[in-house]
Amino acid sequence: MTDVEVGPHVTVLTGAANGKYPDGNSVLIEGSDGTVLIDPSLTVHDRGGIREVDRVLISHAHEDHIAGLSAVRATHIHAHHDDVHGVRSLDGLLSIYGLAPREAAEFRVELATTFHIGDVPNATGFDDDDVFDLGDVTVRVLHLPGHTRGHSAFVIEPDGVAFVGDVDLSSFGPYYGDHWSDLEDFVASIATVRELDARHYVTFHHKGVVSGRDEFVRQLDAFGSIIGQRDERLVAMLDRPRTFAELVHDGLIYRPGTRPPSFGDAVERRSIELHLARLRREGVVVAHADGRFEAA
Ligand SMILES: [Zn+2]
Repeated sequence: MTDVEVGPHVTVLTGAANGKYPDGNSVLIEGSDGTVLIDPSLTVHDRGGIREVDRVLISHAHEDHIAGLSAVRATHIHAHHDDVHGVRSLDGLLSIYGLAPREAAEFRVELATTFHIGDVPNATGFDDDDVFDLGDVTVRVLHLPGHTRGHSAFVIEPDGVAFVGDVDLSSFGPYYGDHWSDLEDFVASIATVRELDARHYVTFHHKGVVSGRDEFVRQLDAFGSIIGQRDERLVAMLDRPRTFAELVHDGLIYRPGTRPPSFGDAVERRSIELHLARLRREGVVVAHADGRFEAA
């Protein structure tokens, strides 16, 4: 693990393969009056954990963001109120994905083994704009829902560092494929985080540290534009009447041959459902009486 200091109080604990899933980049904040660890990753677990911090802050309840939790001794563990049930119990976490029963049973095993996840009943919720005061440094919550309902960024001052979680600037694009995801919320959150002026932006995956607002906005706009490309692709698929099942079969999100066997179908279903709702609202797509969809 490579530690990267991005401010006097802030260290990025770079995950294996630069934080590529299933790994990720955790952040350690050390103030005069306390310590915070954000999103303990699989790498944090694999290197034997972190002996002791006052608080763990979790950007959202997804397996990769809590994979190191069991290897960290923390007095308090927090996630946003809308996601904290996904940290408190495995059942709560599974309810966030919205998988079919058989897929959920398989994934439950993977959560416990690959990601070392168990119940954390003492985890408590935080609210939008809550501030954690560590003496000479503060951590402020910036709620950015869409990826999950409780997905949150953390703004660390005076260091000028923003941890933006899974607004990850990847070429895959925004992920809103869970029961707990929402496309319109994600679009609004991209607009919110675009206004954020920081010296360094830290993503949980892949990009890691992006320095300067201009570069962040450039990468954020490219990331956000993938939503519009998916809209266009779906409209092109609907040049003739198609059923929902046919659209899911062909797929909108994953490139041919890359759909994960366990949860890929569920992700396609949820994402296509969200894009269809948006395109129908805009009058770009219509639903026929027989249930098939077509471009207007
Ligand atoms: Zn996530």
